[in-house]
Amino acid sequence: MALRIYEEKDMKCVICKHGETADGFVTVTLEREGLTLVVKKVPARVCQNCGEEYIDDAVASQLFRTAEEAAKSGAEFDVRHYLKAA
Ligand SMILES: [Zn+2]
Repeated sequence: MALRIYEEKDMKCVICKHGETADGFVTVTLEREGLTLVVKKVPARVCQNCGEEYIDDAVASQLFRTAEEAAKSGAEFDVRHYLKAA
């Protein structure tokens, strides 16, 4: 799935155009050079109307770092919980 980055708090959903977004947690699947990484409990904004998921910039870059790291270990499949950057 494509990750959608949200630009502002309380933005309206860009998919259905009228849904409000609310805080929630989602599971994100990332693919990187033969690795499939599933990250659970990722903080996100979720559209209350269509269920589209949005994550913010900082969370997205943290996810990409996690994926790079996991890819280096040579794993083909990994499941992690989202950890906030220190
Ligand atoms: Zn929506």
